[in-house]
Amino acid sequence: MSRVAEEERRWLGAAFAALCRIESPTGRERACADAVAAELRAMGLQPAEDGCAAAARSDAGNLLARIEPADPGAPSILLCAHLDTVALAAPVEPVLRDGRWENANAGILGADNKAAVAVLLAAARRWSAAPPPVGVEILFTVAEEDGLRGATAFDPSVLRSAFGYVLDHASPIGEIVLASPTYYRIEAEFRGQAAHAGIRPEDGRSAIAAAATAVASMPLGRLDADTTVNVGSIAGGSESTNVVPDRCRLAAEVRSVDPSRAEDVVAETVDRLQDGADAHGCDVDVQVQRLFRGYRTRRTAPAVAAAEAALQACGHEPRPIVTGGGSDANAFEAAGFSCVNLANGTERNHEPTEAVSEAALERMLDVVLALPAAAARLDVRAGAPAAGGPAEAAAC
Ligand SMILES: [Zn+2]
Repeated sequence: MSRVAEEERRWLGAAFAALCRIESPTGRERACADAVAAELRAMGLQPAEDGCAAAARSDAGNLLARIEPADPGAPSILLCAHLDTVALAAPVEPVLRDGRWENANAGILGADNKAAVAVLLAAARRWSAAPPPVGVEILFTVAEEDGLRGATAFDPSVLRSAFGYVLDHASPIGEIVLASPTYYRIEAEFRGQAAHAGIRPEDGRSAIAAAATAVASMPLGRLDADTTVNVGSIAGGSESTNVVPDRCRLAAEVRSVDPSRAEDVVAETVDRLQDGADAHGCDVDVQVQRLFRGYRTRRTAPAVAAAEAALQACGHEPRPIVTGGGSDANAFEAAGFSCVNLANGTERNHEPTEAVSEAALERMLDVVLALPAAAARLDVRAGAPAAGGPAEAAAC
């Protein structure tokens, strides 16, 4: 039996569609942040924006709102969603078809992560009228889709919560992400020597041949259960075929849930790039950037136990999984704050056919509404950080 009332279900659908219509690609979240803050204020809450806009390379900072518990001495949990979306290929016009929200135009809907934003607003609306058994801190981050920049800039020491949840995994409700990979981006620029391809090819050194040799020698795809490698783009040469190409760039990524394995595979990939350049007398410049650090959460961690209890209370079978994707949870875990990523029931994120059903939105809200009671039954104060300052104190 769902905890969600019919009136709340309708409010949730309308709030979700309204949020989707507000364009908020990474770095341009201002209008969406303002709309969310206004909604929270209308509920009598006092959202505070931190000073992280510049650090996150956005036009808005992260928004934090606190909901006090029924018992003033009760502990607190964090709930988090991100305000940004990937780039828009078309305007967003949400339409409901057979109980599923889609974009009427050929582009993303933005259910990643506006579905979770709407659910957290609907939950805040309930709790601002009837306080939950534990305190709830609600955080809306910016610039998640490009390197978790908002969450990375956020200062978790302002939180009162013992642990938190992000609702940012596009899979059926019930899945709990227990591990997420360390993620490296590798960019290589090969430089050779241009020469006429028909008259004096002997004088040329082909940057494209060097890159091709490197890629052909790399292990690609799924290397083991924890580790993947992909060359995502390659570009080089000139418009004409009569020049031995002196330039070629490629971009690759390495992910592994095992951080030392990720480092080893990055080192091997860099070696292959260098060997490819050497084989054709070219130079190569390689840049390696770690975009986020992986984590592994124990099944017995309080955050996981509370999530399992909330899911079971809503009639869902909890299913622990390992993901190949990252989320704001990676940034919080890297900063020492325990955070679990929960499946949110959205589908085909980042694709033009992205969708979320009304039923999934309602189920997500049902689970979120069950979380405080599940957390209240645990001693979530164990290992909790000291109480944070006021929400408005958050700064970079
Ligand atoms: Zn997301």
